[in-house]
Amino acid sequence: MKIEFSPEHQSFRDEVRAFLDEALTDDLVAAQRSCPGIFLDYEHNIRWHRILHRKGWVAPGWPKAYGGTGWDLIQRYIWTTETTLASAPSLAPMGLGMCGPMLIGHGTQAQKDYYLPRILSGEDYWCQGYSEPGAGSDLASLKLAARKDGEDYVLNGTKIWTTHAHYANRMFCLVRTETSNKPQHGITFLLLDMDTPGITVEPIRFASGTHEVNQVFFDDVRVPQSNRVGEENQGWTVAKYLLEFERGGGGTAAHRSALERVRRLAAQVPTGTGTLMEDPDFKVKVDETAVQLEANQFTEFRIMSALSQGQNPGPESSIMKNLGADIGQRITELALEAVGYHGALQHEGMTGDNQPVPGPDASGMAFARYFNLRASSIAGGTNEVQKNIVAKLVLGL
Ligand SMILES: Cc1cc2nc3c(=O)[nH]c(=O)nc-3n(C[C@H](O)[C@H](O)[C@H](O)COP(=O)(O)OP(=O)(O)OC[C@H]3O[C@@H](n4cnc5c(N)ncnc54)[C@H](O)[C@@H]3O)c2cc1C
Repeated sequence: MKIEFSPEHQSFRDEVRAFLDEALTDDLVAAQRSCPGIFLDYEHNIRWHRILHRKGWVAPGWPKAYGGTGWDLIQRYIWTTETTLASAPSLAPMGLGMCGPMLIGHGTQAQKDYYLPRILSGEDYWCQGYSEPGAGSDLASLKLAARKDGEDYVLNGTKIWTTHAHYANRMFCLVRTETSNKPQHGITFLLLDMDTPGITVEPIRFASGTHEVNQVFFDDVRVPQSNRVGEENQGWTVAKYLLEFERGGGGTAAHRSALERVRRLAAQVPTGTGTLMEDPDFKVKVDETAVQLEANQFTEFRIMSALSQGQNPGPESSIMKNLGADIGQRITELALEAVGYHGALQHEGMTGDNQPVPGPDASGMAFARYFNLRASSIAGGTNEVQKNIVAKLVLGL
């Protein structure tokens, strides 16, 4: 199927390309291209965030009334594709992609008025406090205790795997306010300041050497009750609503671009009879991945279409999350297969003084990306848990 853009959409695409030519600097592109992880570091993503905010293009998915662009489905598709192909920095999703839509759906007017403009401007940088040791897939078993004291809740406990908590000045989190009912009932949704006394952020380092996630400790942390979203003990509904947005995000354009990089990489690798990209076995694997990618593209279109009609992403977003994680990991496996042992040598800097670096240029990056992307079938809900959701809520099994 070939998608033809209308003349209006073609001129929108030209406008996007012209903007990217002008606003996207070489160092931002270099930062994105050398990012081995799922999320780009704070410095580069916030610089791009502010550039987009000045242009009014920072929140393509939000309604216009709240500072979004008001773009239609095709415009958003064009935007994602063009920014990905241009290697523009990927923006952190915790504020724009999760907290913002959640507040638009469930926040009080005062919370919307205060927080939404700060998410748009980049003044607030959010992290997500859901998981705890012993409460990941089984999130409802979370224990971070919130006891009422005067106008505040007092928090004691811990959150883990908290992405970018070391950069964030805000956290949206789930706390336990009631223990006597079924687990889902006693959960409350809170917004808090990361500089509140009693909060400690400890880094967790990945196998690839990068620092993206943390463990956060709470020791008598006071959070005003006015920072609650929704009713007390009813936070599970808000939490599930937000997760649909976390899982409904795109990704196909990024995979398309990454697969293209694999093709270029493999075309540099000699096999004795030609290049790896000409090797029939390798080519079949690349082509199979390309077919899966096309299938995932259509799931993405379905989700975007639901969003454009005012619906939420729905449980179908779990399909997208699973396929996206599988395809992303598959692409890093192909890249690693292409660079072979050069990946480990370059990544570990084992090239020796005054020695040329062996292997294709991107070898070290392929190695780091392979390790970092292992996390994508766990973060945001594991593949197995997504399959359970699809079985129950989509297939009705
Ligand atoms: C890179 C990264 C970033 C993250 N960022 C954040 C963040 O910012 N904020 C946050 O709150 N959390 C974050 N997480 C945590 C993430 O949401 C959890 O790791 C995830 O939900 C899985 O929970 P768990 O690690 O406790 O594993 P477990 O739930 O213990 O799962 C262990 C294994 O058991 C399987 N399993 C569990 N239950 C079932 C079941 N019912 N049926 C079949 N199989 C099952 C799982 O699929 C998995 O293979 C992040 C995780 C990673 C890896």
